[in-house]
Parts: sequence; C-alpha cells; structure tokens
Amino acid sequence: MESLGTTFEFGAGGRKGPEAIIVPLVTTPKPPLSTISAVDELCGGAVAELFAAGAAPTDAGSVAHVVRSGPIKRIVVISLGAAEKVDAKAVRSAATTAAQWIVDQKLSAARLWIDGLASLELDNAVGAWALGMMLAGFRYETYRKVDKPAPAKVRISVESANTAQATRAINLMKAEAPLAESVNYARGLAHRPANELNPQTLAAEARRLAKEDAKIKTTVLDAAQLKKLKMNGLLAVGQGATHKACLIRMEYRGAPKSKRVTAIIGKAITFDTGGYSIKQTSGMWDMKFDKCGGMTVFGVMRAVARLKLPVNVIGLVPSAENMISAEAYRPGDIIQMMNGKSVEIISADAEGRMILADTLTYAEQQCKPTEMIDLATLTGGVRIALGVYAAAVLGDNDDLCEELVECGRRTGERLWRLPVWDDYFDLIKGNDSDMRNSSLVRDAHCVVGGIFLKQFVTGSTPWAHLDIAGVATDDKKRQATGFGVRLLVDYLRRRKA
Ligand SMILES: [Zn+2]
Repeated sequence: MESLGTTFEFGAGGRKGPEAIIVPLVTTPKPPLSTISAVDELCGGAVAELFAAGAAPTDAGSVAHVVRSGPIKRIVVISLGAAEKVDAKAVRSAATTAAQWIVDQKLSAARLWIDGLASLELDNAVGAWALGMMLAGFRYETYRKVDKPAPAKVRISVESANTAQATRAINLMKAEAPLAESVNYARGLAHRPANELNPQTLAAEARRLAKEDAKIKTTVLDAAQLKKLKMNGLLAVGQGATHKACLIRMEYRGAPKSKRVTAIIGKAITFDTGGYSIKQTSGMWDMKFDKCGGMTVFGVMRAVARLKLPVNVIGLVPSAENMISAEAYRPGDIIQMMNGKSVEIISADAEGRMILADTLTYAEQQCKPTEMIDLATLTGGVRIALGVYAAAVLGDNDDLCEELVECGRRTGERLWRLPVWDDYFDLIKGNDSDMRNSSLVRDAHCVVGGIFLKQFVTGSTPWAHLDIAGVATDDKKRQATGFGVRLLVDYLRRRKA
C-alpha cells in the first residue's frame, strides 16, 4: 500500500487526553489575561509564565516549547504573529509548524487549544488550520525504508473553554478532510516514478478512482481511438514510447438538471526527456513531475465527488511519455492537428502544448463545456516571469480569468494574469505550416505557450490556461504541491450549477 505520510484526525478532547498540547495564539499584542488564564487551566500556568518571562514567541510561525510535570507535560505555543497581519496563509503556515513538530516527535496524539484561532476575525480559521496540518503530513515514502517512521495517524483532541465552540470547530476541521486528502492524493500520484506510472497505468488509476467513487465515470481513449479522431498532436508526442499515448476522461455530474459543464484539462507527460530536443541531465531527472497538471485534475475529480459538489465537471487528462526512439517525432515534422491546423515541430520538448491543443479541440467538440480550464507545467518561462510565488493565468475571457485570480487570492494558490494578444502570434507563425510549436527566439515563452493553445479554442467557449511550471513542486522540500486542486475546487464551489 502506498504511504503518503501522516494523517491528522480531529475529534473531541477529554480529561485523560494526550500529554502534549499545541496552543496557537496571536502574541502581538499580548493576549488578554482571560485568554491566557483559560488555556492555563490545562497548562498549569505555563503560558502566563512564558509571557511574564518575555519568552513567548512573537514572529508568525515561531514556537516556544515548555516541559512541565502536570498531566499535560509538553506545551507548545505557536505564534500566529501580529493581530493585524494574521490571514489564512499565516494560519496554515503556523499549522504546518505544529504538524511538523508532532511528526518529528513521533506522537500519535496531541491536544489542540483552538480558542486563539476561533477568536480571529477570519473566515473559518480553524478550517485553515486543519488544512495546513493535513497538507503538512504529506510524505512520499512508498519506496523508502524509514527506521522509526512517524505514526500514520495522529489524533488531535480539540480543546476549548467553550464546548459548543469546540464542537463547531471539530465539524469545520473535519469538513476540510476530503479536500486535503485529495490534494495529497494528487501529490502522491505526481511522485510516482515513470517506471511505475505511464499513460496506461495512469488510465488504470482513473478506472480505480471511478470504482472507488461511483459518481465518477471514467473512459479511456487508446491510441487507435485517438487516431480515428485525428488527435495527431497527442499521438505524435507519444509515438516514440513503448507506452502509447491515451486520453483519460473522467466525468462527474453533481447537477444532472443543469446544462452547465466545466471542462478541466491537465497535461500528464509521465516522463519528459525532451524527445530529440533532449534535455540535459540536470534538467531531466525530475521530469516525472511533468504530469502535475494532470494529477491536479485527478485530485479535483476526487474532491468534487467526495464533497458532493452540485456541479458538473469533465476532467480530461491527455497522457504521453516523451521518449526517444526510431519511432519518435522529430523537429521539422509537420503535424496535422485534430482541428485541421498544421504545426511544425521546432522543439520536441515543447510537447505539452501539442497534447493540450488536441484535447482542447476534443473538449469543445465532444463535451460542449460551458468553460474550459487547462493546467500544465508548460514552460520554464513562467518561472522566469513569476518565480515560485504564482502561476500564470492566460486567456481572452476577462470574467473567467478574473474569477480564477480571485479564487487564487482566497486559497493562497496565487495566479497572475499574462496577456494573449494576437501580436504574439508572430513569434510562432509558420513558414511551411500554419504555426510552429515553439518560437525561434527567447521572447515571452510563457505567453507563447498560451498563444499556441489559443489557436485551438474557437473563441466561443470561455477558456483559461494556467501555467503551473513554477509552482507544481516545492524545490526546498522536493515535493509536489498539488497546486490547483484547492484553487479549482474553490472555483467550482462558488460558481452556480
Ligand atoms: Zn518538454
């Protein structure tokens, strides 16, 4: 069985609870005496002593750890920072610190004092805290021998001076579990190496997901069916590999009476060598993560089904392995795409847009969606433009793009809009073909990706393209982030069916 780290479960506290307690508090200004004395009923005066000694943590996410001889032996006060600066992101990040402490200590249970969170002027601060902890528990250890592993499950006893408040908080915290699990599911898939996960095993995973949740219907189009549909862009990218390309279609109908359908499309290159435009060793080893956009679609489908959202969603995941062989596509090849336009291959490493382009055509023709949103680790250029702190959103439809930017603001999965003005098409205008799959110059690579995809959308369907190449993995932790699952679930939650 796959191991995805530590799961946190939130429940009611009790007199004979665990020996460790986590106390998140706004520490600047110093909390009112009543707050401190309430928590100190459990902590035996330790929190008041911390403040009296000037040893309470002040910076957001910083920690003070006290050991006592009472029934609660370990008290961990975590600062949420200054009152005026606390937002959901600060809460999530303090929760990350708490989760990491628990995991490092290898505890299987801990108490959590929630009154410091519940008193914040923030929408669902306890939910943000729970989400932060659950996401921080993620570890990919399927192939790793760990000598003394942290417990797979940690029970968090929720404590409060007010029982009704505790009950409310527990419900809010539990409500975040389907979302957090779905993000971690997407991350776990992203970590699977290419010798395990290829287009066919990914298709099998989509079928498994449909079996697990009857509300998801999965169909897989294999290479022969793709050929019939003339999805030659997707086929070309996969033709050098033993594991041929496929298109995975997952449907969820939570609003059967509504005609509204959102298509979510995610690039899943299970490994990207760059093809004959081969990558260097240093840039190739982590290319199993070139499927992150598609894994986000898997996570969104799982989440909407678990949350029973009243929306209709079609998830489309074109999947291929970009390999080298006598069969592989070459630079200079001219590919007739599904929509009839021809593309000259300039770079075999600009493969993501080839598989997405045909999938956009497929989506419009076969799914008739109300709107289409695609996600892809598409260009290094997006990282040049925005670094690791935002993904790019591109598209002509202001309403859709602005709505997505707003969802990014709410969830902390930030988006920044880049243009897709037609002037940029000059960069990929073809000579022997309608267009090229890459430009010959270094200008505006992220925008060029968007401009290319725009040629495969008729214009009547609102469409947005998210380039997540800078944010799909966390370089410091060497982990997939599952970027986009929370963003798109927020989007689907807010829009009317
Ligand atoms: Zn590539």
